[in-house]
Amino acid sequence: MNIQILPDEVASQIAAGEVVERPASVVKELVENALDAGAANIHVRVADAGKRLIEVSDDGCGIAMEEMQVAMARHATSKLRTADDLFHIKSLGFRGEALASISSVSRLTLESKTADEAAGARLLIEGGKEKSFEPTGLTRGTTVRVEDLFLTVPARLKFLKTDSTERAQIDNLVARYALAYPHVRFQLEQDGHNGLMTPGNGNRREVLAGLYGLDLARQMIEVLMQEEGMELDGFISPIAITRGTRKDITFFVNGRWVQDGALSSALIQAYHTMLMVGRFPAAVLFLNLPPESVDVNVHPAKAEVRFRHQDQVFSLVQRGVRRALMASSPVPGIQPPRWNTYQPQPPLVSPDWQMASELASEESALPEESPENLPVLPPQSEFSAGILPLLRLVGQIGATYIIAEAPDGLYLIDQHAAHERILFERMMDHPSGGLPSQALLQPEMIELSVPAARLINEQIPTLVHFGFDIEPFGPATFRVRAIPDLLTGIKPASALQVLVEDFEEDETPLQSQREARIIARVCKRAAVKAGQILTEQEQKALLLDLEKCRSPRTCPHGRPTMIHLSIDLLERQFGRKGAR
Ligand code: ADP
Ligand code: MG
Repeated sequence: MNIQILPDEVASQIAAGEVVERPASVVKELVENALDAGAANIHVRVADAGKRLIEVSDDGCGIAMEEMQVAMARHATSKLRTADDLFHIKSLGFRGEALASISSVSRLTLESKTADEAAGARLLIEGGKEKSFEPTGLTRGTTVRVEDLFLTVPARLKFLKTDSTERAQIDNLVARYALAYPHVRFQLEQDGHNGLMTPGNGNRREVLAGLYGLDLARQMIEVLMQEEGMELDGFISPIAITRGTRKDITFFVNGRWVQDGALSSALIQAYHTMLMVGRFPAAVLFLNLPPESVDVNVHPAKAEVRFRHQDQVFSLVQRGVRRALMASSPVPGIQPPRWNTYQPQPPLVSPDWQMASELASEESALPEESPENLPVLPPQSEFSAGILPLLRLVGQIGATYIIAEAPDGLYLIDQHAAHERILFERMMDHPSGGLPSQALLQPEMIELSVPAARLINEQIPTLVHFGFDIEPFGPATFRVRAIPDLLTGIKPASALQVLVEDFEEDETPLQSQREARIIARVCKRAAVKAGQILTEQEQKALLLDLEKCRSPRTCPHGRPTMIHLSIDLLERQFGRKGAR
């Protein structure tokens, strides 16, 4: 073949592949346009999961008749003039691609009227070609009707998921935008059925149910943190409610929905040690940053952004979320006296709800429930971080587990994991003066590999804080004079080696996270081991200390410290109650 410049139509269709991946992406572009037009009401109508019809009407500023045709052209936009504008952009659109792309792969009708015009106009485009353009009587605003999506590229239809999945994508998308723009009234209709409808009164919690259902919406924790021109607000799930994937984590940056793995990680890290491994929170968080500190032009669908001060942004998310979580969970010290701490704690979420939501999420990693009559593991919700009831020691089994009784049933406690948790919280809470350390009889020289030495070198202040007395002594050699009290009996070289390994694995950018990891490591080394016989005294002390923890139900690495067999469960198991 010889070289030719592609006809505009073909170029548009190719470009459309990036912007219009599925029906929900059309909805996204059209809703964004309506928001940019300053609409107070946005009405979305969909038929056949968006394959037959997607219609978005708004009461925004409208497009003047003489500009309607040009609006449909590629790279036609009213939102930006120079490339420099990209760094002060306040609108959601700026690429001038959406209408051109969508109309190149469908039959698109654009109807619009501005406030100044007596009448509006209707423009019909099919597969990128203008079919008709005529004046027509309309009220102010714009309606874009997209019929027969992928008409010109039918192969794309084969890449769509099931109708119910595509429909759910649209539901979720509109709900997310409704949350981000609570002052706009949204109405969504799919195949003639009313879906989400929001009051537009600015109250986000009222909108929340559209995204998460009433149950979770009620329990979501509010986040609010402001700092140096940056603001974080929104909602996060309590610790007791988790998901099998990250799909329920949503971030908006300056009003724009973005998919950003790093932001999600910052959120997940804030739940660090409070969630089981492989479980994720649900969250909708809104970040507002100075426009010039965000690069929005990274992705054709505008789904990614780049931050000028990435670490600051992550740290804001992490601390904001952490603070909200801490404020929402019971804090030791303001507990009622011990003898009446017990309150029956029904699971925050019924297992049915959990199941239903898991089934609804396609990529759910949750395995099927165990065989019929052996539900050995309690439902997820029972691993809530809530305070423990008063525990009465029964004894130790296998030199590994401690059995305790409480008014709400039986607790099987993993002594190692529980001790790790106790030490972890003790160290985390320690005042900044540094942790007690144990001087070595003789200073010890430890030689490490060069990369390991570099890692340790960077972390010396932290190590000192945690009770190491350590100083560089040559390029890759350190002199250790003291180690943390907790590590007494462990060889300094091996203690340090363990920490180095942890630094190497650690890809998190945040220092605070590193510190927590170091502590978790130290605790792991220092905690009683499985297989260690404990005296009755020691077992009782462990239970008492565990009761004082803020998050007694998981170890610092997120594994459960205990299994709770409730009276209810026992009764069911023994056939005393219910139909199994
Ligand atoms: P972009 O949003 O990136 O500018 P689009 O292709 O989505 O590009 O839209 C092109 C132009 O058409 C917009 O810049 C805007 O001027 C106009 N437009 C599109 N939709 C609407 C709407 N709902 N109300 C008013 N103007 C609109
Ligand atoms: Mg647009």
